[in-house]
Amino acid sequence: MTVRYETRDGVAIVSLDNPPVNGLDLATRTGIVEAIDRAQKDPAVTAIVITGVGRAFSAGADIREFNTPKAVQAPTLWTMLEVIESSAKPVVAAIHSLALGGAVEMALAAHYRVAAPGAQVGLPEVKIGVLPGAGGTQRLPRAVGLEIALNMIVSGAVVKSEELAGTRLFDRILEGDLLTAAIAFARDVGTRAGPHPKVRDWKIEHPNAEGFIGFARSAVAVASRNFPAPLKCVDAIEAAVKKPFAEGLRLEHETFLALLQTPESKALRHAFFGERAAAKIPDVGPEIQPRAARSAAVIGAGTMGGGITMNFLNAGIPVTLVEAQREALDRGVETIRKNYGNTVKRGKLTPEQLEQRMGLLRPTLSYDDVRDADLVIEAVFEDYGVKESVFRKLDAVAKAGAILATNTSTLDLNRIAACTQRPQDVVGLHFFSPANVMKLLEVVRGAKTGKDVMVTVMGLSAKIGKTAVVAGVCDGFIGNRMVGQYVRQAGFLLDEGALPQQVDRASEAFGFAMGPFRMSDLAGNDISWAIRKRHYVERPEVKYSKTADLLCEQGRFGQKTGAGWYDYKPGDRTAYPSKKVEELILEHSRTLKVARRAISDEEIVGRLVYALANEGAKILEEGIAARASDIDIVYLNGYGFPLWRGGPMLYADTVGPYNVLRAIRGYAARAGTDYGYQGQAWEPASLLVRLAETGGMFNE
Ligand code: NAD
Repeated sequence: MTVRYETRDGVAIVSLDNPPVNGLDLATRTGIVEAIDRAQKDPAVTAIVITGVGRAFSAGADIREFNTPKAVQAPTLWTMLEVIESSAKPVVAAIHSLALGGAVEMALAAHYRVAAPGAQVGLPEVKIGVLPGAGGTQRLPRAVGLEIALNMIVSGAVVKSEELAGTRLFDRILEGDLLTAAIAFARDVGTRAGPHPKVRDWKIEHPNAEGFIGFARSAVAVASRNFPAPLKCVDAIEAAVKKPFAEGLRLEHETFLALLQTPESKALRHAFFGERAAAKIPDVGPEIQPRAARSAAVIGAGTMGGGITMNFLNAGIPVTLVEAQREALDRGVETIRKNYGNTVKRGKLTPEQLEQRMGLLRPTLSYDDVRDADLVIEAVFEDYGVKESVFRKLDAVAKAGAILATNTSTLDLNRIAACTQRPQDVVGLHFFSPANVMKLLEVVRGAKTGKDVMVTVMGLSAKIGKTAVVAGVCDGFIGNRMVGQYVRQAGFLLDEGALPQQVDRASEAFGFAMGPFRMSDLAGNDISWAIRKRHYVERPEVKYSKTADLLCEQGRFGQKTGAGWYDYKPGDRTAYPSKKVEELILEHSRTLKVARRAISDEEIVGRLVYALANEGAKILEEGIAARASDIDIVYLNGYGFPLWRGGPMLYADTVGPYNVLRAIRGYAARAGTDYGYQGQAWEPASLLVRLAETGGMFNE
């Protein structure tokens, strides 16, 4: 039973009790309808109160029911709202805390609404690419006025009850125990002669509705580029102003159904559910208990070590920061303080909070100080020798059961684990730079990593505000392994006829935050050079365009050296197309005896994005990632992939695996005839081939 019914002093109390957040699933909707019917039949009842048990009034539609037939099985939300609104006895919604989406629409269909101070209401549907589809766009403007309603619906923001106190939304904001006060209120309105007020009958008053909507429409168009839902919200709200209620409702419903089918809404829902799915590890059940994780140590106070440390300090977890050299330690601590100082300047942190956080930091030069840490994260130089010696020391000093993590980007976690006596305690925590800002965390699971270690670090990553995705051990894990193929294609495109600025422009027009060459100039071309040099030895069969090596031989490492794929001016991050680089590229094509050709933007985008998806397919079939959505979450959170396209794997599904495979085979055939080595860049993943043949999808 997710809905309870009782009567008190002639008032029927309908309590939503569907943990964790009283989602309006089929059972709950049915329960509400039955309760309202039951109250009609009881002559002793004069009014009805709908309330929520637990920490929420109701978070609206139950996300566990999304994409299942139950979501649209009657009684639907619409039926339920009709039953409430047409009740002969007045219905009072009593909102003590969070009310979202369908729950707000339910409250708007009630005759009266009361709220506790601090209760939060919001219509967040726009965040999953749709609009409130059960009258929200029609009733909310009638209750809170055009401007507040438009802001709430277009932004999806949650608003506190007291901020809405001056509107008609709440009949009362009631202090003290809300249910008791709501019952008293209901008893009172129950004595009034009907009919009771219906929001649908109210007028929207605004001195210049037409002008305001026009202004809002232009502002929303600019802010919501690439997402259709916000503008559709404006259209629906305009209908609330201009059309009879029933017509507005119909337009809202039709728009809701149309938006549900858009690729943008699919992408947003994919990201929403993908993030939740990523937190679950298929073979690790709820019976696995986490270890204690109350204190941390970080080894290395460089770029990454400092950022990683800040994550834990922000979450109130004390950190022992270990360095090899006094100077590096002082510099690292100073950088952390400076970063917090900047946040204070921006008004996002108080000076007291700064000191509190710095107070949790214990800088040291001694490994002995790691003894008490529950979790140790190593962020020293990317070198087996250095890392192995660090792990041997940690093995000697860390307490039994401490988790030993490495932030390595490219080294073999199993090899690092093997130099300890406790490989079950070793895990990879691959943070992204800047580590205090980037949301993404790849949690690398070694061959022997304990399940309890996995549970602990997944819990911790949520605590420090990261979006964690589990990856198996391989060169580059999920994100960098895929980006390697993407960057390779970018290089071949230069050999065949494109220039960096054309590739970047096409990629940015597709929606990437930054094209591959601008990205490489920012990250430092020397970093990928070092990785390629290692690959030349370890995997000589993997070929690359030589242009990037030639660029590095000229010392053009990117922004930090004032020159890379682009030219830069001092103090200016603008990328200026470079004549020198163009000459280098043309000269290299001549050396290869490649007849340069005009390459379309479509081909550029196809080769870049399908390179990602094809490698993603290999990562899936090898079990490096558990699900296609995990890969998409990595790309959306760490690599600037456009959110409205949902990630490389969802994009491949949208295009269709058959079409992706066909395009890849076309690129491979052409490359083979153009010049020797590029044909080897395309080896279609067998999973892609299978899906193309069977009509399957990466995200079923
Ligand atoms: P960095 O050079 O900025 O910092 C490394 C620090 O480790 C230096 O301060 C050095 O003094 C210290 N150190 C070296 N040996 C030590 C030892 N034995 N004990 C204690 N401290 C020692 O390097 P970084 O960019 O912070 O990278 C650190 C690790 O993070 C590397 O494994 C790297 O691959 C990985 N990583 C880097 C990035 C990035 O974008 N920079 C991203 C993800 C992962």
